Amino acid sequence: MTATSQQAEFTTIAKGEVIIARDCVLEAEVNDWPAQPGFPASVDVCACVSGTILQFSPEQVIAVAPKFTEFTALLVELANQGIAHRDGDPVKVKLPRTWTLTAPASYGHVKITETCLSFCRADHTSDRNVHPMDLWHQQYGPSMTLAVTDTAEPPEPDKVLAVSIDQRPHDLDPAARVPHARVEVSGGVWSEAMTPDAFAAFIDQLAGHVEKLREFHTVLAQAVAEHHGGGAA
Ligand SMILES: [Zn+2]
Repeated sequence: MTATSQQAEFTTIAKGEVIIARDCVLEAEVNDWPAQPGFPASVDVCACVSGTILQFSPEQVIAVAPKFTEFTALLVELANQGIAHRDGDPVKVKLPRTWTLTAPASYGHVKITETCLSFCRADHTSDRNVHPMDLWHQQYGPSMTLAVTDTAEPPEPDKVLAVSIDQRPHDLDPAARVPHARVEVSGGVWSEAMTPDAFAAFIDQLAGHVEKLREFHTVLAQAVAEHHGGGAA
């Protein structure tokens, strides 16, 4: 839903959707555009209908008509949030929270109403027909970049110690259904799932390791000094 006349990055401060029928979703979002040459800063509401044009029987129209009313209410709510945001009021980011997953045939086409917890930043637009066990709620956290290599090739920058909070609500493992942290040590090598207590213990371990690295830094500094003829400090 990018306005083609404006190229700058915008910030989506609120969005929502109403599912009219399978493959027919009404979506709207409030976007905050920064000022740029030729354009003042602005807030707009962008709405679209995704999916195919559907032919409804009269009965189906009567059944789905309230959904259009729901979308009208959503538009008004988003417009009010846009006005409040433009006028400088702090607006809590509101992302879509509840949506419907229609499971594939192997799962009996069952419809599951899925509600994202507030931590989830996953874009679930491609998840509407996934197998429920393949559904992830997720937020990527911070990482650091380090040049690494596992071959004789020159090192290349890679993300290390990235953190992700995940929740797999339909996993067979009950622990996976509870939000948990995992640390990507490097290039697809992940820690086990960590509870808040386990993640706190990992952070403490890492902090302790940083102190040991500081001590070890002096060993390197002395080694280099000695190499250059300065002798051990
Ligand atoms: Zn989610």
